[in-house]
Amino acid sequence: MMTVTLNLDCSVCGHHRFRLPIKQEEGSRVICANCSAYKCQVQDLEKALIAVGRSRHRTAVSAA
Ligand SMILES: [Zn+2]
Repeated sequence: MMTVTLNLDCSVCGHHRFRLPIKQEEGSRVICANCSAYKCQVQDLEKALIAVGRSRHRTAVSAA
């Protein structure tokens, strides 16, 4: 697992740090690094990260 800070809130404790699976045997669940609550499937997280990346890109373009 690797711990990352994301632009997402844990639904249980509100933390922004999550543990992501990096190996097949770790499954595809994202877990809160603070309270270990199950957060979402990696597929959902990827969509969230893509959305975050797009909004950041849009912000950068509009700021330029
Ligand atoms: Zn949590």
